[in-house]
Amino acid sequence: MKKIAVLGSTGSIGTQTLDVVRSNGDIEVLGLSAGKNIDKLEEQIREFSPKLAAVWDEKKAEELAVKTADTDTRIVSGMDGLLELASMEGTEILVTAIVGMLGIRPTIEAIKAGKDIALANKETLVTAGHLIMPMAREYGVRILPVDSEHSAIFQALNGESRKEIHKLLITASGGPFRGKTRRDLETVTLQDTLKHPNWVMGQKITVDSATLVNKGLEVMEARWLFDVTLDQIQVVVQPQSVIHSMVEFEDGGIMAQLGTPDMRLPIQYALYYPHRRYLEGERLDFAKLGQITFEEPDMETFLGLPMAIQAAKAGGSVPTVFNAANELAVKKFLQQQISFLDIYEIIGQSMERHKKIEHPDLDEILAVENETYQWIESRW
Ligand code: NDP
Repeated sequence: MKKIAVLGSTGSIGTQTLDVVRSNGDIEVLGLSAGKNIDKLEEQIREFSPKLAAVWDEKKAEELAVKTADTDTRIVSGMDGLLELASMEGTEILVTAIVGMLGIRPTIEAIKAGKDIALANKETLVTAGHLIMPMAREYGVRILPVDSEHSAIFQALNGESRKEIHKLLITASGGPFRGKTRRDLETVTLQDTLKHPNWVMGQKITVDSATLVNKGLEVMEARWLFDVTLDQIQVVVQPQSVIHSMVEFEDGGIMAQLGTPDMRLPIQYALYYPHRRYLEGERLDFAKLGQITFEEPDMETFLGLPMAIQAAKAGGSVPTVFNAANELAVKKFLQQQISFLDIYEIIGQSMERHKKIEHPDLDEILAVENETYQWIESRW
């Protein structure tokens, strides 16, 4: 029996991880966690009987402890709870399906405790990749990508030498506003933004897909995961979301991973790597699909991607500012306090005013995150 814990088990990736567990029947779930959705977490506790469940919100944690008093699951709360879950005895893999920079500290804790990481939380490598990757090597743990693009690259690299990578081709659907002009974006609503053409995901990443910030985060993450330079990464728009990403090798040969858009495949691949298991669901039918098309990303309209590349090139603490500014801007957009284009404005201004720290340690990263939030709150 493989033993895992899931950070963010009530979210989109978290629940799909539990679908994979349910359909395979040979994975034991020792830990679960949520931010505040204790109803769903209670259901999961009753189904999977974990030893530990962490809830961010202290009051909700107390409520849940009362509701689940008849079970053997211990309830913990706050950051201490997440850290305990991340490093708990007996687990082999921590699935990091929590949203935002909050995922950094538990990921570090898990690495230090020798757990492999099934990494969905992209904010961790974006802001702290320079700390996480060497730490993973030091502790001999594997970082197994869950994001479909990185999983595709990871699959395409199976049996290949990473030294022979010429470039990575990260595919993008283009999001719900592909083809729109900057003028059109002035009037788009929250509802329009949350309609992703191909994937059903959490709200934050759905907004990030519409701004192309998500693709920018993926470029930054890929650089750390696969140890390539930014110049070796190209984004290609492939609106059908059938090719999940590709690797071009030194000899010009290209390996791609294809499939229907279903996150359970990369999740399952990470959990059973290097083995593959049967996965129920729709299969790719090429005759029905007819064609796969490609375009250049529109960097003039969707500033999330060029701004992310700028932040990645600057390096140091700038990716943290990019990411933190985006997190708060998206939160404000979801609460309908700002417009779609204000997201770019907030990220751009936050990066402009920031004085870069060349090699930030964890405390400095968290301080830069806080300072960025405070600055934005004082203006918007
Ligand atoms: P969701 O918003 O659907 O889920 C987020 C999870 O994190 C929920 O379990 C939520 O709990 C929990 N959470 C939120 N706030 C806190 C908090 N303060 N403390 C503890 N837990 C918290 O997100 P997704 O599943 O879409 O995304 C998760 C991560 O995976 C993101 O980093 C995203 O970029 C990445 N990712 C997602 C993909 C997808 O298809 N969804 C694809 C690739 C990457 P609660 O339910 O209580 O709010």
